[in-house]
Amino acid sequence: MRRQIVAGNWKMNTTPAQGVELIKNVAAQKKQAKESVELITGVPYTHICCVSEIAKENGIAIAAQNCADKASGAFTGEISAEMLASLGVQYVILGHSERREYYGETSKTLNDKIKLVYDNNMAPIFCIGEKLEEREAEKHFDVCRAQIEEVVFNLTAAQFEKLIVAYEPVWAIGTGKTASAEQAEEIHEFIRKVLAEKFGAAAEKTPILYGGSCKPSNAEEIFSKANVDGGLIGGAALVAEDFVGIAKAF
Ligand code: PEP
Repeated sequence: MRRQIVAGNWKMNTTPAQGVELIKNVAAQKKQAKESVELITGVPYTHICCVSEIAKENGIAIAAQNCADKASGAFTGEISAEMLASLGVQYVILGHSERREYYGETSKTLNDKIKLVYDNNMAPIFCIGEKLEEREAEKHFDVCRAQIEEVVFNLTAAQFEKLIVAYEPVWAIGTGKTASAEQAEEIHEFIRKVLAEKFGAAAEKTPILYGGSCKPSNAEEIFSKANVDGGLIGGAALVAEDFVGIAKAF
């Protein structure tokens, strides 16, 4: 059986004090979900120190939402993978569509970032997904394949074992539009097939999360699909009841 994971992405929301309240509320309600469901919380850099103790005590892993594409040095304003790892961060979300769209993230920089994440003993949550016009032109399979081939195919077998993939159709992120469970399953199955072309049977174990307006009301149906191993959750991760409600969908 594959890992079941619900990962939150708080994006640029909450002050550190509000983040502490939120993680405490998630921790308090976490028992409502099955113990086997792994919870990960992607917090802003500024919150890592304040929330990590509470998260650790309650079995919630911390993710960063990005990291620098350089190891260290004169890169004003950047945060290195080493800095994150030294604070107990276990995962780094890479390739989120907002970073691809607003900050010009390309496969070139993602290759550099993913290497640094692994070099510092963390694991990437690697996001892929097509835009609305690409879905409408039925190019979503090609887009996802290219995003995988350009980055994931460069990993070693040992690195691949730690990878988490998040399929996030850009048209469903923060829009209230969710992919149907069937649409999610169709492309998750395809993604696993592409991963298997390079990594063989190891792809059977790769967690592939769905992201895009996932809520307690639709999570159960989406998570019931064979190739959907959980969710990457934006808006609903900002409300403890909703985040845990999604985890309860397993
Ligand atoms: C996301 O940005 O990763 C996401 C899935 O957002 P939302 O759940 O708000 O659509």
